[in-house]
Amino acid sequence: SIQLKNIKKSYGPVTVLKNINIDIEAGERIVLLGPSGSGKSTLLRMIAGLETITEGDLYLGDLLANDLVSGQRDIAMVFQNYALYPHMTIEENVTFALKANGVPADEVKNRLDEALSILGLSELKNRYPRELSGGQRQRTALARAIVKKSDFFLLDEPLSNLDVVLRLDARKELVKIHEKYQQTFIYVTHDQMEAMTLAHRIVVLHNGDIQMVDTPHNVYNQPANVFTAKFIGSPG
Ligand code: ATP
Ligand code: MG
Repeated sequence: SIQLKNIKKSYGPVTVLKNINIDIEAGERIVLLGPSGSGKSTLLRMIAGLETITEGDLYLGDLLANDLVSGQRDIAMVFQNYALYPHMTIEENVTFALKANGVPADEVKNRLDEALSILGLSELKNRYPRELSGGQRQRTALARAIVKKSDFFLLDEPLSNLDVVLRLDARKELVKIHEKYQQTFIYVTHDQMEAMTLAHRIVVLHNGDIQMVDTPHNVYNQPANVFTAKFIGSPG
């Protein structure tokens, strides 16, 4: 589980997140949805330990995580720009961190083979990023995150560089991966359709404030306020 209790984030005098209270169940798929500048990436980066928390408490499982650095948190994160190492093959990109962390060689190989097979990359493992399509690069970044076998899987608009058809396929793959590994999954997007298809529950953010936390069905059919109704484009 992940619990956010009265979280606030300020940069100097400017407050970018306030009154953030969310209880995320273990294994749940949460989507943070909101327009540009609403605070989605900042919130995700705080959970990942890449931003400090100005006020409030963050629990990862039973662990108070406020003062844990990123490397001490059991998280895997995928960014919009993938950040693959250009001089490493797919296999090397995916296994680099595992080897650095002392995971035994046969275990590394098992995890690699499984992730590449799920993502359809097995035939490409000796290629370099420059020899891959955008979709293949994005899947490599997902594979690199999956092999960590972390309890918490954080994704910040990981599909935004893909064309529409690839995005639809990739969403299905993500659901498949989640159903297999059952991590607690937080996905950031400004795309309403993406939120609807991926989320168990959607957190709607606007100006650093939570507008609503509910199922896609309820967010669409019973928006809690005018902002949510307009942003979702729902009948309410
Ligand atoms: P987008 O959809 O464009 O990625 P977002 O919802 O992810 O937007 P954030 O990147 O979390 O938005 O930014 C939220 C607010 O915090 C914005 O107003 C942004 O300008 C501000 N902000 C983010 N990082 C910093 C920083 N390091 N210093 C000052 N302000 C920041
Ligand atoms: Mg962002």
